[in-house]
Amino acid sequence: MSDYSIGVDLGGTNLRAAAIDRTGKMLNKITGSTPVQSGRNAVIADMVRAIETIRETIEAGLSGRHLAGVGVGIPGFILMEQGVVLGAPNLPEFDNYPVRDEIERRLGAPVILENDANAAALGEKWMGAGRDVEDLVLMTLGTGIGGGIIIGGRVLHGHLGMAAELGHVTVVPNGYPCGCGNAGCVEKYASATAVTAMAQLLNLGNGLTAEDVFNLAAGGNERAKMIFRSVGTSLGTALANLINIFNFPLYLLGGGLLGAWDQFQPAMIQEVERRSFTFRSHPPRIERATLGADAGLYGAAYLPFQVASRGSISR
Ligand SMILES: [Zn+2]
Repeated sequence: MSDYSIGVDLGGTNLRAAAIDRTGKMLNKITGSTPVQSGRNAVIADMVRAIETIRETIEAGLSGRHLAGVGVGIPGFILMEQGVVLGAPNLPEFDNYPVRDEIERRLGAPVILENDANAAALGEKWMGAGRDVEDLVLMTLGTGIGGGIIIGGRVLHGHLGMAAELGHVTVVPNGYPCGCGNAGCVEKYASATAVTAMAQLLNLGNGLTAEDVFNLAAGGNERAKMIFRSVGTSLGTALANLINIFNFPLYLLGGGLLGAWDQFQPAMIQEVERRSFTFRSHPPRIERATLGADAGLYGAAYLPFQVASRGSISR
């Protein structure tokens, strides 16, 4: 097969794009030149430019290669049918704009949008820690907490495409207020942002990053260790709910906070055991995701292949 696809990740500071073939081999990867916050027209132009650059490089190197399509991971709600983004604070002016149709028109290739955390979960299923299962949950622990659910090898979308907002699962009734309008969301207790906020509350030092707090914990600082135990307890509460709902074989954690795994994992497992009969009866795997920041690129690139293998476009 000489087909390849291009995955785009709009989640970071600059967009990233990669060409990946059907076997999951990454052929080329580039970073865009325009900050993602620069506004709609600049970002779309940058995306089209990046995709065309990759396409020219690939097709010049090996004639006969065919672009199967483009998948784009976007940090926001995606209305799958319409190909429209909603509620993406990092992407000014994208709300309600027909972004899929616009990129398709400029590229002349089929484009599929996906939430970035869903794309990461699909990437882990295709080429990462979830290769041997058909059903998994991924929670991405970063500035916030993203989530993706893969069921029967495919992304679980819900009826509009808004499923798997796992960062907003409640773990503390009437807890800290969250930007989503709820209070006590798990991302207020177990994200990198939550770690730095707890460090401030406990007077560990000013302006500490989550990594600084981890280094303190690794060095034996009791208050820092307590922060990660608290992170573990909150994650364990959320995971116990997910395990009770899904009875999946695999739950993955990814994102920047994963480096602190050794600090939060024991409290997390203890909490899952306490809260989930399913877990105590037949424990599923709770593991680290393996593709890191590339998970979203793999997942986005896999979308066109998945559509092709089904013989129809099901958005
Ligand atoms: Zn929330």
